[in-house]
Formats: sequence, structure tokens, C-alpha cells
Amino acid sequence: MEFLKTLQVQEQNMGTSSGAHWFNTETSILSSFSPTDNRLIGKVYTTSEADYHALIKTAQEGFKVWRSWPAPKRGEVVRHLGEKLRILKKPLGQLVSYEMGKSLAEGMGEVQEMIDICDFAVGLSRQLYGLTIQSERQDHRMYEHWQPLGIVGIISAFNFPVAVWSWNAAIAWICGDVCIWKPSEKTPLCAVAVQHIVAEIFKEHGVPEGVSCTIQGNREIGSWLVKDEKVALISATGSTAMGKIVGKLVSERLGRSLLELGGNNAIIISQHADLNLAIPAAVFGAVGTAGQRCTTTRRLIIHSSIFDIVTSKLQKAYSQLKIGDPLDAQYHVGPLIDKAAVDTYLKAIEASKKEGGVFIVEGGVLSGNQYESGCYVKPCIIKVHSDSTIAKHETFAPILYVMTYETIEEAIDIQNNVPQGLSSAIITNHLKESEIFLSYKGSDCGIANVNIGTSGAEIGGAFGGEKETGGGRESGSDAWKNYMRRQTTTINWGNNLPLSQGIKFDLGNA
Ligand code: NAD
Repeated sequence: MEFLKTLQVQEQNMGTSSGAHWFNTETSILSSFSPTDNRLIGKVYTTSEADYHALIKTAQEGFKVWRSWPAPKRGEVVRHLGEKLRILKKPLGQLVSYEMGKSLAEGMGEVQEMIDICDFAVGLSRQLYGLTIQSERQDHRMYEHWQPLGIVGIISAFNFPVAVWSWNAAIAWICGDVCIWKPSEKTPLCAVAVQHIVAEIFKEHGVPEGVSCTIQGNREIGSWLVKDEKVALISATGSTAMGKIVGKLVSERLGRSLLELGGNNAIIISQHADLNLAIPAAVFGAVGTAGQRCTTTRRLIIHSSIFDIVTSKLQKAYSQLKIGDPLDAQYHVGPLIDKAAVDTYLKAIEASKKEGGVFIVEGGVLSGNQYESGCYVKPCIIKVHSDSTIAKHETFAPILYVMTYETIEEAIDIQNNVPQGLSSAIITNHLKESEIFLSYKGSDCGIANVNIGTSGAEIGGAFGGEKETGGGRESGSDAWKNYMRRQTTTINWGNNLPLSQGIKFDLGNA
């Protein structure tokens, strides 16, 4: 496996890093096993408390220098990083695929997202626009401008082990912030590889230590960041359960958080749908990354008049799916991340059966040589009642619940009647239906698509969702404002001191 060497992920003493410097403290060991074949890929040291505090100091020092660089100069560093990622797209995609289990095409797609956000950040580094505002006072100028925040703590989930970090880091850096990344304990080596790449580029540009840091470990180590008032912003991606804890702890110290949490995404398939769009959108959405995307299609809300034809087309499409080694391009679906995820998948199927759910495409765990890691499951489809309790939960696995509706209003009600609010879609050629779906009466999600599926967002838009998805927005559009603080300034260039609201404050001859 040449890519492991290329990416330097099997060296000794990896774990905590402030850039070029890797801390060598021998702490407990985090072993990373591939879900594809259960082989040990490599080990990292978890971060010690002393190293964490040393890292924070380095990051604070690094910030003082980094914030003084003109933003376009910071952008130039990010541009160079994007170029390096282009060169390393294949090996890094292979590592993502091997450590996380998603198909190689999706692993490479994840690296492409890193490249795209670098490009976006470079352009943004010449913008970061403020506003000028008309002052009510004579000879005054008023404007808003944006300042760097400081340390940004990035906590990421296993399912996007590199892209989500880059959405945060590339934008935070051009904004003048420094980053401390705690990756998922299930994908520590992806972070090690990325840190090596970043360190090399940063060295060439003379970027100070502490601008890109990584710590390693479980939620306890993540909670050091969360509770630390020296960390200005916590950007946390993961389960809603995690977000509820993190959001509360950050708000207790009146810090800022940006939460990107669980989704429970649906596609409405109307009787006016083009099924040549609907079927591939639903299948890719449901089985891509083995159902482990936050934007995975978990529910299909199908007009009753076309339910039979849609489900029979889905059965046919599912029968063509190939499940196996994600590094082998012939397979569409790889393994789940670990055996605990397989357990959760089986439990959800059981729960749905208890509610009267019926298999349209049967599920189960795959066995045999090729599947000896025990993490490969069959993508399945279950017909449930539109009020099913289990279908309101996000089960991070390739289970697709299908249900029927009669009117567009009912379909939207079903779609919205879950605690999460990330992604949603309607497949229809009926203009009024799609406009209703996109109106104030329509989808309550952060993402609402027409004639495409729920997954596969582009970096140019702001990404995130409502309700239990956490409300955060990352990536494109004006999400950069999360990484800066707004300052409102009024300058008096006249010779008098008029007060706003016409207030008079006469000091006589003073
Ligand atoms: P998870 O919540 O188990 O862990 C995510 C990260 O949070 C890990 O790094 C973990 O160590 C850390 N963490 C957990 N509890 C913590 C705590 N109390 N304090 C500090 N850190 C803590 O999630 P996961 O299983 O890795 O990822 C799957 C989940 O992530 C799904 O729910 C998925 O929908 C969600 N997700 C959401 C988005 C999004 O943009 N909305 C993107 C990717 C994944």
C-alpha cells in the first residue's frame, strides 16, 4: 500500500502536532483498523493534557503573527495547499477510502472538495467585505469591518475525515484564525496525513507554528477544546447527541459554536416526477458511503399512484449494486465503519419490523472471505407507515424507508415531521409543486433541492441544517462570517461632536 508511505502515516510518535513539530509524549495509543479488511493501518499517541496546554500557547503565539499577514497573502498559502492536494488527490483519496470505508471514487471526491474549498478561500481572501453605512451625524463616517477571531477548535466526524476539516480550516485561515483539529478517533490517520501535507506547505511560506494544530483522542480530549475559553469558536461536526453536549458547554462560557449535526433526509417523488432522475438520485443518496453521510437519503415519500413502479425500479437498481472492497473501483458500496455500526443497523431493522415495516429489499450482514471484517451489510429498503417512529431517527447505515402520500401538502408535512432539518429534495416536473416545496410552506431544511437528490452538496453554497441538525453554516456563501468578529466603527472627521438621537449634552464653557 504505497499511499501509506507517500502520506507518512506509519511513522513513530505521531499524534499531537503544532505544524512542523510533532510532540513525542508517549501516552495511550489509538490504533486505526480498516473496516475493509480489519487490518491495523497505524497507531497514534493520544494528546496529553500538558501537550494540549503547550499547543494552545503555541497557537496563541502563532495567531499574533498570522493575523498580521494581509489576507491575500494568507490566501496564497491556501492556494499552494490546494495545488499540493491536486498532486496528492489519489493517495489521500485512497487513505480516506481505506481508513473510513467509502468507495475510492467518494474518497477522491472528498479530496476534490478540499481542493474546491481552497480555491474558494483564495478568492475570498481578496474579499471579506464589510459595509459602509450612512451616519445620521454631520461629517461622520460609519462602517462595519471584520476581524479574526483567534483559535478555532474543529471537531470532526468519521464519515468525512478530511473534507469537513478543510471547509473550516481553509476559511478560518484566510480570515486570520488559527486552527486546532480534533479528528474522529475512528479516522486519526487521515488527520496525520493532512497535517504532514499542510506542514510542508506552511514551512515553504514561513507560516508560524501553531496555525495548524492537531490533537488526537476521544470525546474527553475533544471536551478540553470545548471547555477552553481560549478557543474562540468551536466548530463541531457529528451526532446530535454530541452537539447537545458541546453546544451547552460552549454556551455556558458564552463562547461561539458552529454545529453540524445529524440529518434525516427525504426525497419526495411526485406523480409528476421524471423517474430517470428519481431512481438514480434515490439510490446514490441512500447507498453512497454505505448510508453514512449526514445528507444520506433515509426516507422516500412517494405518491401512492406511482409507489409500485418506483419500488420495483428500486428493487432492480438495488439488485445491481456491488458490495465489496471500496478501494476496488468495481464496487459501489463499502463497509460500515465498525461492528458497533453493524449492530445499530440490525437493531433499526428489528425496530422497524416491530412497527410493521416490510422489506422491499432485504437487509442483512454479509459473510464470507471477502467480508471477513464483519462490517459489510446489505443496503435495504423497508416500507413503513408515514408516522413510523424508527424512521424519525437517524440510523447511520444504508436503510431506506419508503412511504406513501396523497397530496403535496401531506408529503411536505411528512418530510418536515422529524427532529432533524438538514437536506431535502423533491423530484417533480410540476412547477407549482416545486415552488410550494421551496416556499415558506415547504421544506424546513437547510438544504432544499429540486430534481436532484439530498446528498452531494457543492462547496459554493452555505452548508448546514435546522432543528436538531444544529443551525450552523459552513463552507461557501457568507459562512466565513462565522470565523470572524464584526466591528462597527464611526469616525468623526468634522469639528463638532454631535450625539446620536439628537441628544444634547451641554458642558457650558468646559
Ligand atoms: P460522533 O458524534 O460520535 O463524533 C463526532 C466527533 O465528536 C468525534 O471527533 C468525537 O470524538 C467528538 N465528540 C463526541 N462527543 C464529544 C463531546 N462530548 N465533547 C467533545 N467532542 C466530542 O459522530 P460520528 O459517529 O463520528 O459521525 C456521525 C454523525 O455525524 C452523524 O450523526 C452525521 O449525521 C453527523 N455528521 C453531520 C454532518 C453535518 O455537516 N451536518 C457532517 C458529517 C457528519
